[in-house]
Amino acid sequence: MNELVRAISEDGTLYVLALNSTEMVKKMQKIHSTSKVCSAALGRLITAASMMGVLLKGEKDTLTLKISGNGPASPVVAVSNSKGIVKGYVGDNSVQLPLNKNGKLDVSGAVGKDGFLTVIKDLGLKEPYCAQIPIASGEIAEDITAYYAISEQTPTVCALGVLVNPDNKEVLLAGGFLIQLLPTADDDTISLVEKGLENIKPVTTMLADGLTPEEICQAVLPEFKMQVLDREYVDYKCDCSEERVTAALISTGADGLREMAEDEQTEVVCHFCNKKYVYSKEQILKLLKEANK
Ligand SMILES: [Zn+2]
Repeated sequence: MNELVRAISEDGTLYVLALNSTEMVKKMQKIHSTSKVCSAALGRLITAASMMGVLLKGEKDTLTLKISGNGPASPVVAVSNSKGIVKGYVGDNSVQLPLNKNGKLDVSGAVGKDGFLTVIKDLGLKEPYCAQIPIASGEIAEDITAYYAISEQTPTVCALGVLVNPDNKEVLLAGGFLIQLLPTADDDTISLVEKGLENIKPVTTMLADGLTPEEICQAVLPEFKMQVLDREYVDYKCDCSEERVTAALISTGADGLREMAEDEQTEVVCHFCNKKYVYSKEQILKLLKEANK
């Protein structure tokens, strides 16, 4: 049960989303067998993607977050639909690094501090919306905050956390929250938000204390009275299918298909769920005909 709650302040000046993504990140870790630091990196990114996905307006809209840095695990990719259902992958999911100077998993070391965060929103238009900003810290939450400030001019506070058992890589807790100021917010609202955040515990500590997403919405904004707007039960789920893989193969073009047809068998593995799709030489030749049409 990955519960995502969206709430609005009674005075209508700000939104908050809070998500307990523990089960979703556990599922991701099992699919990809991610190392501890990669569970933290991808776990944080899919948690952010899920919350940002729910903010999409159209039912068929999708959101992609891609962090391409100079770190050994890069890129880290997460995709969400408008229901907050996510999938994702890490370039190298086996990366292991010593803890950082704060004694935490070194996510920015794995991702890299130099590079870009790309945000793609497919809103069903001819061209998807695409924004690219330099990596702020590589710790992901700060990068999401920077994206909203630079590309959407929306003052946002983002916090993300993944707690991993140091002994056996098991994901113990994961979650996040996203506070957004609405255009009705003034400087007083901003200083009240900042004041409230001074004493906020890390997300995974709040989850360990037994707080529900609804309670987190209120806990992070103690100066405001929050009202729940809606709840979603989100998950990690891949939507790949033979049709989609076939369409992707055709779109690689005739040259690529001709090359594949030289082999007796072509294997395509889905990046997001590791499902294997096998095509015979005859099937590839058939696709080649279609690509030539
Ligand atoms: Zn898949």
